Amino acid sequence: MPKVKGLKCRECGREYPAEPLHVCEFCFGPLEVAYDYPAIKRAMTRKRIEAGPPSIWRYQDLLPIEGEAAVGRHCGMTPLIKATNLAKALGVKELYVKNDTVNHPTLSFKDRVVAVAVTKAMEFGFQVVACASTGNLANSVAAHAAEANLESFIFVPADLEQGKVLGTLIYNPNLVAVEGNYDEVNRLCSEIADKYGWAFVNINIRPYYAEGSKTFGYEIAEQLGWRAPDHIVVPAAGGSLITKIWKGLKELETLGLIKECKTRMHAAQAAGCGPIVNSIKEGSDTIKPVKPKTIAKSLAIGNPADGYYAYKVVVESGGYGEHATDEEIVDGMKLLASTEGIFSETAGGVTVAATKRLIETGVVPRDDLIVISITGNGLKTQEAVVGALKPATYIKPALRSFDEALGRLRSGASIEPNLIASRS
Ligand SMILES: *Cc1c(COP(=O)(O)O)cnc(C)c1O
Ligand SMILES: [Zn+2]
Repeated sequence: MPKVKGLKCRECGREYPAEPLHVCEFCFGPLEVAYDYPAIKRAMTRKRIEAGPPSIWRYQDLLPIEGEAAVGRHCGMTPLIKATNLAKALGVKELYVKNDTVNHPTLSFKDRVVAVAVTKAMEFGFQVVACASTGNLANSVAAHAAEANLESFIFVPADLEQGKVLGTLIYNPNLVAVEGNYDEVNRLCSEIADKYGWAFVNINIRPYYAEGSKTFGYEIAEQLGWRAPDHIVVPAAGGSLITKIWKGLKELETLGLIKECKTRMHAAQAAGCGPIVNSIKEGSDTIKPVKPKTIAKSLAIGNPADGYYAYKVVVESGGYGEHATDEEIVDGMKLLASTEGIFSETAGGVTVAATKRLIETGVVPRDDLIVISITGNGLKTQEAVVGALKPATYIKPALRSFDEALGRLRSGASIEPNLIASRS
């Protein structure tokens, strides 16, 4: 069944064949994958999806690949956790965590987009895959290229966290650290893509790549028993994920797989890099680029490619946006970990902090059903919490030593110096 009709310009609507293209020749608008929904509707039922594999590929009818998945077969279907402790801490009735800290294989939601993009790149016959990345995409492209036996070139800003660098190098790609911020890396990569003709997953393969993010939304709806929540809070970098979760939910509505989608989509960004949230707060659809300065490096895109569309989704859905300072990001990471036992990266701290503010300001009513998007694993951004945690207690290997320490712990007296801080 040819379910993909082709590519379509988001601005002028001009249609293109499903090739490795990403901008409209006429108006320079971004291209998007267009589907034959009536045909999909005839084939796709809840039952058919539920009988599929426990991965993103159960939604293959709504993904832009022709054959079978070539890589990333175990990606997706991450837990949707009813977060009772966090709900209590935030003073709300019903809150869920969509937990992509445990997404396979590289522990962030980026595996969803890369599984689709690399499969598509292989269908197109590319020999080299590449990306411009703020970190998680680097990990994921390197891992999937290894699985696919493809050469890879990964471009990142030179100041990336150690965990993101090692978590890329281990797959033996060509890692290129560029002395500049993400926006400069991205500009350079556009030129490299033109010159060398490689499959840059988030540049010339971007229309296909972006579709992978829809599965985050499909899973939330399916895991809630085939319904859309009242709110989803989404961390935004380039603004693609929030746009595509919305597209995914609207597709389920169109296909009759959920009754209705009245979800309000909220964007979460760092105060030190929040161009999309700035626009939302100013009520202007012009995204003003910023120079990023935040510990949330995975979200540090000052000139977001899909910023305008993210803004549109937020406004159309009746959502809003909030910023998080570096201090609030760390507090958010600690709150999520101490209430739910989930160690998220800095982006998760941004989401928790923004959610807290959306609730406190009354934008998100306390009785509504809220889902927060936790998109990456905390083991990759350990620098962020160094020195911000209760230190370990050091004792001699003797019961008396422990008894004394316990006395001090219970009396709340401060104990030994912070192990982590003192070693760095
Ligand atoms: C890339 C990324 C995002 C945001 O992705 P966009 O689609 O660019 O908005 C969110 N969280 C994490 C952890 C990411 O790595
Ligand atoms: Zn166009």
